[in-house]
Order: sequence, then C-alpha cells, then structure tokens
Amino acid sequence: MAVLRFSFGTMGSGKSTLPLQIHHNLTSRGLRGLLCTQLDRDGARVSSRLGVSAAAVDVGPKLDLFELARAYADQHGGIDHMVCDEAQFYTPAQVEQLARVVDELDADVHALGLLTDFRGRLFPGSARFLELADERQELQVEARCWCGARATQNARLVNGRQVYDGELVVVGDTGGDADVTYELLCRRHWLRGETGRVPDGDVAALAEAPVATD
Ligand SMILES: [Zn+2]
Repeated sequence: MAVLRFSFGTMGSGKSTLPLQIHHNLTSRGLRGLLCTQLDRDGARVSSRLGVSAAAVDVGPKLDLFELARAYADQHGGIDHMVCDEAQFYTPAQVEQLARVVDELDADVHALGLLTDFRGRLFPGSARFLELADERQELQVEARCWCGARATQNARLVNGRQVYDGELVVVGDTGGDADVTYELLCRRHWLRGETGRVPDGDVAALAEAPVATD
C-alpha cells in the first residue's frame, strides 16, 4: 500500500538535504519518481547547503500534481514515488491531488515542509497535509534558539527586528528595500521578540553601554 507521508521541521533542521537523499535512495534502487519543489532560490532545483542538488519540477500554484504524476506514469510505465520539498507552500488543492496520486496511482508521496509560518500559524498546505497524511513525522534533527532551548518557531526579521504580520510568502534575498531574514527561536523568545541579533540602531547604544567586568 502506498502512503502519503508528511515530515515537518523548522528551517535549518536538515530539511533541505533530506528530499535529495530520499529521492536519490529511491532512484538508485531503480524506482521511478519525481522530485518537486517550490520557490527554490536556484530555480527548478532542490539544493542544500551541503552543495548537493538535483533537477526538480518547479511547482507553481496552478500545476495539477495528479496530472503531472499521471503524465509521468504514462511515459515511464508507472510511478513509484514523489518527493515534495517546500511542501508548506503547496495549495490545499495540490495536497489533495497528492492524496489521489497515492490512492489512484499507487505511488508513495514523501512531502517535507515547515509546520508554521513566522506568525506561528499553520501554513494552509501544511494543515491539509496534517489532515490527510497516512504518516506524520517530526524531523529529528533539532534546531536551537540562541538561548540553547529547542527552536520551534520561525521568526521573520525585517531590518533586524521581528515582525508578526505581513505577506505570508516572502523568500529572503529577493531584493526590495527591506532586509528580510529568518531566525529560529524557541517559543518563549519568539513571543517576546527577543532575537539573537542586535538591530542596527542599537549597536551604537550597546557600544556606549557600560560593560560589566569582574
Ligand atoms: Zn530562546
């Protein structure tokens, strides 16, 4: 029986290398399958900080994943698996299409993504995965907050300061006036907005502050 598996974690929890590993392991065993991603900075490739990358299907919001899988199966005499990276960005309809890939084409779907956004709310795609998946697993690689506690939240920083609202999808390094970055925090420091970074305006103040010595 094929399964729909959703694996979730925070940014930097090794999530970016895992899709490549899974896809590589399956295809090296002679299995037929597709690697899918979305909004990857390098275009239609899944890349990781380890420097490994593989050609991938770039999933736009209008792409029908069931039809994609069916076309692949027609071409290759079947489909064994789909590995889906950045799965939090898929639309709920696309998650339902992946469920049909499992049920109707008998292919395993391994989806990997983030659970919550910078506001601390479930991504719509991730919510649908949680609702429909046969298996849900939290990735074991643990990320840490600057304080050393387990990091469970993705904070968005605009010009070095944490924000709690704004556009849902903003990928870093996309240009524009604001400097948008992300930082992993524990829940306590995410709620307090206490990031490990010093906002630019505070650097001078810090420099002037008396330094405790002992
Ligand atoms: Zn913390």
